[in-house]
Amino acid sequence: MRDFPDEPVPMPPISCLLQGCESVWLNHLQDFNEHCDDRHEGVQTYRLRCLHLLSESVWQVKGSIHRAALQNFSEFQVRGATSWNAFSQDMQAMLDEDNGQLAKERRWSQRRWRACVVCAEGRWSEELQPLWLTGRQCSFKKPHLVADLLDPEKYIQTWPNVPPDEVRRSSVKLAIAGTLLCRSLLLHSRRVDQNARQGKAAVDVCATCHACLVKDNPEMPPRALANGKWLGRHPETMRSMPHGHRLLLPVRRVISTKVIFTSDPRNP
Ligand SMILES: [Zn+2]
Ligand SMILES: [Zn+2]
Repeated sequence: MRDFPDEPVPMPPISCLLQGCESVWLNHLQDFNEHCDDRHEGVQTYRLRCLHLLSESVWQVKGSIHRAALQNFSEFQVRGATSWNAFSQDMQAMLDEDNGQLAKERRWSQRRWRACVVCAEGRWSEELQPLWLTGRQCSFKKPHLVADLLDPEKYIQTWPNVPPDEVRRSSVKLAIAGTLLCRSLLLHSRRVDQNARQGKAAVDVCATCHACLVKDNPEMPPRALANGKWLGRHPETMRSMPHGHRLLLPVRRVISTKVIFTSDPRNP
């Protein structure tokens, strides 16, 4: 095993633990895998060698390892990078033209709490996935079936007590990919900017909504606004109200929420 210094030296995102690799700088998982293939006969051999060496000595967490762990944790907290994986093409290009180290401000994007465009529920940005609503890169396999599912007019017929104007105002008019048709979709309209409406940018959606809508036969996402969840725009005083306070208010339609606290994660 190599020695890690106690001194505050700059640490790479990923370090190789073996002797002779003290100066190796690994930026991401792909780098690490290549390094293992080149120098240590593959990741599995590297892993076994490390485990064997660790069993023969008492591993000491030196200052530099401690700092690297904190650095990775803060990277996740601030930028939402869950692992040193899947660098974007832009990031890779910057790595290639720079000195092989990616400056912090160029890594990923800022970690944010954002709403899913389909269900309007908040999620951390790393849990959201890009979805192209229209255009050549459209993520839907059957865009017209998705438009049927999220059709505001159908919603107005199903829920006559919800103000129809507000349902229409929360709809986004989109060109259906592959056709000349334009259809309205009931979405979190404030989160769909002009670029996304023209197919030049993706919107953020949660994993459940994404999985339901990109299927060969798209299904209604269970938590979608269009699945009976849109009750109209909240009055201004309600919009700035804390979530707990809102739950105490009488609602227009009966909604029950069951929260179960358990210590057994296998049987929540
Ligand atoms: Zn190595
Ligand atoms: Zn969602």
